[in-house]
Amino acid sequence: METSSEKCMACGRNVETGSKLPFCRLHSEAYRNIIKNYENWKNAYGDLTPEEFLRKLENNDYTGKWVKEVARVILSNRGLLDFLLNDLSYSSRKD
Ligand SMILES: [Zn+2]
Repeated sequence: METSSEKCMACGRNVETGSKLPFCRLHSEAYRNIIKNYENWKNAYGDLTPEEFLRKLENNDYTGKWVKEVARVILSNRGLLDFLLNDLSYSSRKD
């Protein structure tokens, strides 16, 4: 992936240098929080797919602005969703 001229998919700022994510520094941080929180949410809800998780984040009053924006972008972009599933090691849909 090219990083030099890439723009953040959530806000259009320059992508963090050297990052494999298509996000700026703040949205990359939000993305990493999403990855970190998924396990907790999944445990709390029982069976929660990543898509359901993102929708809950998007509609949760306690979710931060940056996380909401990242969730929205991922839900509207199949490639990014695959990227997230890969980061979550969520492989059940490939079976
Ligand atoms: Zn951004």
